[in-house]
Amino acid sequence: MPEYKEYKNYIAGGWVNSRSGQTFENRNPANTDEVIGTFQKSTSDDINDAIAVAKEAYKKWRLVPAPKRAEIIYRIAIRLAKDKERLSQDMTREMGKILKETSGDVQEAIDMSFYMAGEGRRMFGQTTPSELPNKFMMSIRQPMGVCGMITPWNFPMAIPSWKIMPALVCGNTVVIKPATDTPLSVYNFVKIMEEEGLPGGVVNLVTGSGREVGDPLMHHKDISAISFTGSTEVGRKVSEACAADFRHCHLEMGGKNCILVMDDANVELAVEGALWGAFGTTGQRCTASSRLIVHKKVIKEFTEKLVARAKALKVGNGLDESVEMGPAVNESQMQTVLKYMDIGKNKDGAKLLCGGGRLTGSGYDKGYFTMPTIFGDVTPNMTIFREEIFGSVTSITECGSLEEAIEIGNNTPYGLSSSIYTQDVNKAFAAMRDLYTGIFYVNAPTIGAEVHLPFGGTKETGNGHREAGTAALDFFSEWKSIYIDFSGKIQKAQIDA
Ligand code: NAD
Repeated sequence: MPEYKEYKNYIAGGWVNSRSGQTFENRNPANTDEVIGTFQKSTSDDINDAIAVAKEAYKKWRLVPAPKRAEIIYRIAIRLAKDKERLSQDMTREMGKILKETSGDVQEAIDMSFYMAGEGRRMFGQTTPSELPNKFMMSIRQPMGVCGMITPWNFPMAIPSWKIMPALVCGNTVVIKPATDTPLSVYNFVKIMEEEGLPGGVVNLVTGSGREVGDPLMHHKDISAISFTGSTEVGRKVSEACAADFRHCHLEMGGKNCILVMDDANVELAVEGALWGAFGTTGQRCTASSRLIVHKKVIKEFTEKLVARAKALKVGNGLDESVEMGPAVNESQMQTVLKYMDIGKNKDGAKLLCGGGRLTGSGYDKGYFTMPTIFGDVTPNMTIFREEIFGSVTSITECGSLEEAIEIGNNTPYGLSSSIYTQDVNKAFAAMRDLYTGIFYVNAPTIGAEVHLPFGGTKETGNGHREAGTAALDFFSEWKSIYIDFSGKIQKAQIDA
């Protein structure tokens, strides 16, 4: 058995064991014989320690000038870029997505860090004229305190960076609980923060389960804000936990995203986009293209070409650079995906066009590999059309017009991302206006967000807040409006003429 390391929690600038004295294993989903490392199986005791430390550290960190806070963030960005290859390798080993994609994940953390470092010298407020003479008005952003973060496994470094970097530049301190499947990537990220000079206590990392660590984190009275990315089911619990104390709460949850392919579309391009949108990250993206709504005039050509491409995808260990799709992240995720494949075939009565099961045999025996799967003849009442699968499955639904496609596209409880393939600018703009999602693409699949525009969704995908761009600052700071009267006398707004 190769040696592997025991990783600790990071609290008060030191690497410490959980008070429980217990650990859990992290294994490679492409080869379950490989243990990535053991991590602390923490409990509410560790969370309480981390929050107390972050609360104390906040007193100093909030007073560090934002451009100085930003200088540390900038150094972290440079270091992430320097270590990108190692970080990507570790990420592929712990969660399975292919190296090109894990290096994209790290790149997103780099981009977000540079972007938020820039905000250290911006974070603009407003100045505006007063209705009274000799009076000055402005608004500034103020930090809030300790921010709790609960993150998923599908973007192990990118998503933590979307939360940690804006929180830090605004002057907050952080306690983060990563997903149990991907603690190594957050460990690597926090280790770099330590090595690049982030003061102890400003960011604290506590690993462990949602129930034992996430739950006490989101209920803690000294937490000012919770930023959560994960399933809608858990997001609802976070929302309820925060509501009782009016704790700010930002939720990024599930998706069931659609690509509309119109009769005038460049079909080759649409096939390319659908393939990448549906099977990139093994379909385990909140923005995955899981519903393909295709005009009846091109559906035959589109379907034949997409099925041929999906059948040819090379599935395997993401560390092999020729591999195009990795495994599911863990056994239970694989079982969920297999369950939906079964529902599609046997309950919904959709037409299985390719895939439909687990991959077995040489190279697959020790991992959670599923086949790239496409269902045809899918209608909006079917379970596979309605529910988020989060795996290597997509579905094709026929439409007869743009209006019908938009109606089908909006027929979902989620509202993260949507897209249209068309050569007609009028159709593109109508779809842009009428698809009720937080993100929209023209002639591109439903994935591919960049860090400087708001990211998030409508309906059951989100609760109105956004990550990324300056929208992230809106969540991680509170506006303070300031009035300065230099008239030397009492002046009454709305009363003195
Ligand atoms: P999940 O909800 O199971 O877990 C997310 C995080 O919450 C993990 O850290 C987990 O440990 C924690 N958690 C679980 N139960 C908890 C509880 N009772 N109390 C507190 N914390 C708890 O989701 P997942 O399986 O890690 O990720 C997949 C889901 O995340 C999908 O639904 C996907 O769409 C969604 N997601 C959304 C976005 C987005 O930006 N909209 C991005 C990525 C993933």
